Amino acid sequence: MKIRQFQEIIKTQFRMRQVPLVLQMPITSRCNSRCKTCNVWKSHDNNDIDPQALGEVLKDSFFSEVRSVGLNGGELTLVPKFLEILENVLTLPKIKNLYCISNGLFPKRLFEYLEKAKELCNKRGVHLHICISVDGYGKVQENVRGVPNSFKKTQEVIETLYSHREKYCDSFSVGCTISIHNIDNIKETQSYLESFKGLAVEYHCAIPNKRIKTFENADYYVLKDDKKRLQVAEFFYERYLQSKSIQQRYQNFSNFYFLTHKGQERINTCDFLCRDVTIDENLNFMLCATASEVIGNLKEHSASELVKTKRYKMVQSEIAHYCNHCGHYSYHPLTLKGRLEYIKHDMQNRYVWSYYEIDRSNIKKNIYGHLSFFKFFFIEYFRQLYYIIWKLQ
Ligand code: SF4
Repeated sequence: MKIRQFQEIIKTQFRMRQVPLVLQMPITSRCNSRCKTCNVWKSHDNNDIDPQALGEVLKDSFFSEVRSVGLNGGELTLVPKFLEILENVLTLPKIKNLYCISNGLFPKRLFEYLEKAKELCNKRGVHLHICISVDGYGKVQENVRGVPNSFKKTQEVIETLYSHREKYCDSFSVGCTISIHNIDNIKETQSYLESFKGLAVEYHCAIPNKRIKTFENADYYVLKDDKKRLQVAEFFYERYLQSKSIQQRYQNFSNFYFLTHKGQERINTCDFLCRDVTIDENLNFMLCATASEVIGNLKEHSASELVKTKRYKMVQSEIAHYCNHCGHYSYHPLTLKGRLEYIKHDMQNRYVWSYYEIDRSNIKKNIYGHLSFFKFFFIEYFRQLYYIIWKLQ
């Protein structure tokens, strides 16, 4: 285990503030979609982040270790000064990754922005990733988005990025948000997205979220309907069994676990409680976008000042009470409990058949079969523990 990882674990345990490595930035409240899973478009604020003010904010040494920045909205293709904002983000001294999310409903502007963004990122040696949100195939997507006849635009964007990725970005993926509005058709969506061989697709549940103003009333949330909750759990369980990489297995397993425990048991860590932070389009400073209240405004106080205030402590402690009920960021590493639960499930799943196959026809074979079963079971169990806990894999 690396010393830095160990220090981070200890600091997180005691909720000690660390400088952020990831910065999440919803840069606008403008949106051209009318999603059933979001209320941002209903407010008609149409605010964009101010590029110059952002540049000043990011000069604070608090942001000096940031490696990855996520730019989203609203919809970033509607921001006239997107490239100026990007230039200011790229002044961060240690930035290495830029992760943009778009709904793909404005293809022309998206391709224009991406081409220029790639040029700017490449000059700085920054990896540009674009994620396109797709919540269904055809009418399902249009129904969730509330924008008739829009699916062909989404298709155009996916097909273009899939075949000309190197022109627009360094990597490309699709994000599918699951809600009660699209779970019945999830297989159709999955098979459409699988038709793009090798395309990275990340499935996650639409959850209650303060940033998009649905925290108090998320009627799209699958936990509101027991049948839908189990449908989604089954979907993630199937993906868990079929995952090729260990990271995908963890992620799908934690989603399955969270849903089967009715949203009461999170088994992922989350760096937004003690380390990473969010800045919104009004330069409000928050911890996560999910459950954090605004700690202060960066036009009035620097981030270094804000993390020393009583309000910071209060907001952090409020969020910590909520974290166990939060299904966001299931790609974050598993907690210790999560790792043990994973091993238990994985081992049972893998060894359960060999247990029933033990030859019980005579006492000798029966004892021998049980002993070798337990020997392999425990060796495998401890081997997994070693890799998972010590090597943090
Ligand atoms: S509420 Fe969710 S996103 Fe926010 S810090 Fe907790 S686990 Fe992370």
